[in-house]
Amino acid sequence: MLKVQNLSAAYGQHPSLNDVAIHVSGGEIVVILGANGAGKSTLLRAISGICEGKVSGEVTLNDESLMGMSSDAIVEKGVALVPEGRGIFGDLTVKENLLLGAYSARARETERENLDRVLTQFPKLSERQGQIARTMSGGEQQMVAIGRAMMSAPEILMLDEPSLGLSPLLCKELFQNLAHVRELGIGVLLVEQNAKQSLAIADRGYLLENTRITHEDTAAKLANDPAVQKAYLGAGGGATKAASRTAPLVEVHRKAAPAADPTPRRSAEQQIGTSIDDLVAVATKTSAQGPRRPTPEASAAASQLAQSKVDVVLRDIEEAAKAARRRPPRPAYQSVQRPKAPPQTADTAPPPVIEIYKRPRVEVYRRRPSGQFERD
Ligand code: ATP
Repeated sequence: MLKVQNLSAAYGQHPSLNDVAIHVSGGEIVVILGANGAGKSTLLRAISGICEGKVSGEVTLNDESLMGMSSDAIVEKGVALVPEGRGIFGDLTVKENLLLGAYSARARETERENLDRVLTQFPKLSERQGQIARTMSGGEQQMVAIGRAMMSAPEILMLDEPSLGLSPLLCKELFQNLAHVRELGIGVLLVEQNAKQSLAIADRGYLLENTRITHEDTAAKLANDPAVQKAYLGAGGGATKAASRTAPLVEVHRKAAPAADPTPRRSAEQQIGTSIDDLVAVATKTSAQGPRRPTPEASAAASQLAQSKVDVVLRDIEEAAKAARRRPPRPAYQSVQRPKAPPQTADTAPPPVIEIYKRPRVEVYRRRPSGQFERD
């Protein structure tokens, strides 16, 4: 079991984690939900020994402390991290990427079995072993990254926003794959903003808000918690008690739609803060209800407006008719007599146009033996 207690981290004077306590057992998926900047990545980095800041507290795996160990030693102990942005080697093949994951001593002994296990788990990787990794789709690359981490034969697999930049369909596939990873007995610690799908596969979850764990529960209870729904699942109502807690989170989500964000693009669901499935369901329900009927007040106001427009037009027509009656009658139309052209005689007829063509002058020259030209 991975156990984290009183874990704090700070970058200079800036605290990014405060007294965090979580645990993950083998064969369970635990999700950490939190807004941008809450400290989720810092938590994973602190556990895996790669946090650049000052870290204090306790991290143990099966009661053995990992604090102060190098990141290599932590992988050796059985904790692997799939970082945000995947970090695969784009110019290497899928298989080369996977084998690089087996560099630890614990994994090298069982490299063949691990590779078989990963390729069985992700049949797509099996088919594409020879493909250059950067030519794969985002979802497939994410699979390579997870597969590579699994090659280290971890007890605990940590993933930092694996669904980032994936389409809803690929997200679904990814989360299904993570559910399969759990079946192998591996504990999965998942940092996610895609709350709906991650809670759907998770066993438990924590809310990390503003550097602190503020809530912990089973995934099912979190998914039904109005505060979680409002902050992470895009639900509109409920949660008056938690409104003050969730308001800043919603604000941060809005800020997160990045114009110049250098990280990979977030999926549509992450950007709009709600699931495409939910949007489709609402749209279907709305269209089934048929066109909206105006209220009686709105109908009355509209007919009053139309009537007043008709009154104005009728008044204009009446005025125009009265004015026409008062005007003196116009003189009858008289056709204009044009003077007739005099008949043309031989004297008056204009002279015919005679076109004169000039004959082109052709001159022929002959060349004398002396080389000079002379006119013929
Ligand atoms: P996101 O969802 O946006 O990745 P997060 O919850 O993972 O956010 P962290 O990346 O852990 O948040 O960052 C927590 C805080 O620590 C942020 O205020 C961030 O600016 C700060 N921070 C993270 N890494 C560093 C660093 N290397 N140097 C200084 N400050 C950092």
